[in-house]
Amino acid sequence: MAERLSGRRNTSRSYLARSTTRRAATSTVARRETSAKPQRAADTIFLNAQIITLDRVRPQVQALAIEHGHIAKIGRDREVLSVAGKNTRAWNLDGATVLPGFTDCHTHLVSYGIQLHGANLRKATSISEIQSILRKQAEKTPPGTWVLGYGWDQEKLNERRFPNRHDLDAVVSDRPACITRICEHMCTGNSPALQLANITRTTTPPIGGVIDRDETGEPTGVLRENAMGLVLSHIPAVDGAELRKAISLAMRKAVSAGLTSIHCIVDQPQHVRALQAMSRAGELGARIYVLIPDEWLGPAGEIGVSTGFGDEMLRIQAIKVFTDGSLGARTAALESPYSDSPDTRGVLIHSQDKLNSIIESASRQGFQIAIHAIGDHAIAMALTAIEKARDVVPQCDKLRHRIEHVAVLNPDLIKRIKQAKVIASVQPHFIPSDSWVPARVGRERAKLVYPLRSLLRSGATVVGGSDCPVEPIDPLEGISAAVTSATGDYGERIDAQAAIELFTKNAAYATHEEKLKGTIHEGKVADLVVLDRDPLKVPPEQIRQIKVLATVVGGRIMYGSKRFQAMRTSNERRQLARRHS
Ligand SMILES: [Zn+2]
Repeated sequence: MAERLSGRRNTSRSYLARSTTRRAATSTVARRETSAKPQRAADTIFLNAQIITLDRVRPQVQALAIEHGHIAKIGRDREVLSVAGKNTRAWNLDGATVLPGFTDCHTHLVSYGIQLHGANLRKATSISEIQSILRKQAEKTPPGTWVLGYGWDQEKLNERRFPNRHDLDAVVSDRPACITRICEHMCTGNSPALQLANITRTTTPPIGGVIDRDETGEPTGVLRENAMGLVLSHIPAVDGAELRKAISLAMRKAVSAGLTSIHCIVDQPQHVRALQAMSRAGELGARIYVLIPDEWLGPAGEIGVSTGFGDEMLRIQAIKVFTDGSLGARTAALESPYSDSPDTRGVLIHSQDKLNSIIESASRQGFQIAIHAIGDHAIAMALTAIEKARDVVPQCDKLRHRIEHVAVLNPDLIKRIKQAKVIASVQPHFIPSDSWVPARVGRERAKLVYPLRSLLRSGATVVGGSDCPVEPIDPLEGISAAVTSATGDYGERIDAQAAIELFTKNAAYATHEEKLKGTIHEGKVADLVVLDRDPLKVPPEQIRQIKVLATVVGGRIMYGSKRFQAMRTSNERRQLARRHS
């Protein structure tokens, strides 16, 4: 490793010698230009890179200069060196790839941060493994406080069943415990948790929720959709400094994965407060676009929160509304029954009328709406609601409404998405994760689940996200999944360029910021990611192995690997190189 590093340093030194020679040769021209109009020197320059701009006019350049957080110049090394001054920080990227910074258009960043403190059940392959993880979690949790776990998936368990209250009671019986399924549309509470929530054999579930019962009518502890709130509402909220710490932790992971913008779905007022406090304190590592729950619609509209509220680091201008659950939990609303559970078509959260009125009132208040809709029935309902709102609210089309997940589609729904100018917000990493899709919906319907190519071909705008913590907060994993994961049974592959655009250019459009970011263009903000290899050139199956060397947000290096740090060419070294040349 040391040898490789020093080798790189040698390369960079000889490179600098060459580039300064070139600079000397062109200095007369540069001087003539600068004498006409004195130029301010760049803060930072990146040289000797493969810069993929995603801009049609100049798709690839070698170097760029950053000034005051914006991209001041792009071009060849010598062109960019012409705007460097003695205080400019220079990086010789040694052939590394630079892309516009990635955006994750669908995360639950705050929950992710909080979950990083709970028990991680994602990898559990049996009920007894869940039990032993919870036992350890209970040991490190102060007595009397909740024992929490996240990420179980019955499909990965040998027993192929949901963990129930008795499984939990066996390891935690003296205090409440609750574990959430990976999709977050289902959870299991132990007996103390059910007691606290007052869930008995006579409890009626709330609308849009299900309390699972055994053959005797006793609650099993499994709660679906809106019924989860009965237990979850008793868990003391994380607030203040602890919450900020959790968000910072999640954000650090996101930024080191190359994210410069994150769409963040919140469900608690204190989450917004924490984000605002962090923004004021300069603690946000990436730009945050906040989606608030539809229940806040009235109050938020009244205080003037809508499209345009916020600044370049933190914006609140979208409403998230649920129409159904998840395919994994069989709560996504389908037109015809589940193939592996013929007595259910899923769960609807709102009636069509109620959904129409939510979408109409959000549109009137100038909010973008992000409608969670997974099943074909839910997607049809979402489209109907948007189509109706377009008829009565003239500004509706300008708000760029979106449907989140858009999983189970058909050609008619795809046509309606395009016609209603709706953004399809997809999470490509569901393709490798959801191997049970053909079982849930049958072979015929499965062919149009996650149809990325058909969506793009229709001309609709498609944007990419992770749905973290459901899937990893790693855009390169998402891009890799979009390019490689479709099996032929379900999902469709797209090429690497299109996949990258889901997380950059298209994502910028989704927040009305296409003039500000999404491509590398002079005048746009300097949101960049530096990668060790070019995702357009490596074999598709290697995309997920690409390493992020650095993440730059508004010209500030928010993450830099050791290798990247070694690429910094110090002033002394540059002067040395100049003297030798
Ligand atoms: Zn989500």
